[in-house]
Amino acid sequence: MPRKACGDALRGIPVFFGGCAVSEELDRLWALRALDEEAAAIDARVRQLPALRAQCEERVRIERAALDQLRARIAQTQKSRRAIEKDIESLAGEERKFQSQLPAIKKNEEYTALLHEIATVRQKRSDLETEVLMSMEAEESAAHDLPKLEKAAAQAERDGTERLARYAAAESADREQLTALHAGRGGHVEALPPATRSRYERVYGSREGRAVVGVVKGACGGCFRALPPQTLQEARRRDRVLSCEGCGRLVVWAPDPV
Ligand SMILES: [Zn+2]
Repeated sequence: MPRKACGDALRGIPVFFGGCAVSEELDRLWALRALDEEAAAIDARVRQLPALRAQCEERVRIERAALDQLRARIAQTQKSRRAIEKDIESLAGEERKFQSQLPAIKKNEEYTALLHEIATVRQKRSDLETEVLMSMEAEESAAHDLPKLEKAAAQAERDGTERLARYAAAESADREQLTALHAGRGGHVEALPPATRSRYERVYGSREGRAVVGVVKGACGGCFRALPPQTLQEARRRDRVLSCEGCGRLVVWAPDPV
């Protein structure tokens, strides 16, 4: 890490006893801030993955369900049509039977009654034949949609597999980077004076890994509570580790770019 000999002296502000050590401590905290912020961003990305995976699986499920539904509808329509066709056959048989009985009938009223039966059976058959035609049209239209849905489902599965592989690769890279960041963090934490270390660890645990913040427009960079002028001056002097009274985070004035 780049070191300034003693930043406070350069700015013409009196250097207190141990000022340089404090400056180093603040630099370490500042370095920890960068590592922790990066880790928090990666962590947030990793935490989004289950939802992204679920979205992916949901899309595949929806496309598959649409395809299964259409297939089931086609099968059901075919099954009902076959049943109607059987009914048509039996009505045709009935009509033939009535027709064959006609020549043997002597009485007029019986003849008329049988003709009526024949007409009724014929009408029923005709209605059922219309139903069969409608069913065939429905089957044809469904069969026309089938390749489209099959294609969409296959595409969704391919996309899903590809996305899941991409998420897995991204996750493994992110986890590797997190491990490296945690290792880098460990070195800085160990080098902190015990009191600062325990303050840092305490806030790190309670503030989702964001224990150190910079001063942003005169306010704490974590909770954006305005810092009292006195605290701001102290922060700028970089001669002690300050805490925000609002969120408890360690507030550090950003070191000058080297
Ligand atoms: Zn704060």
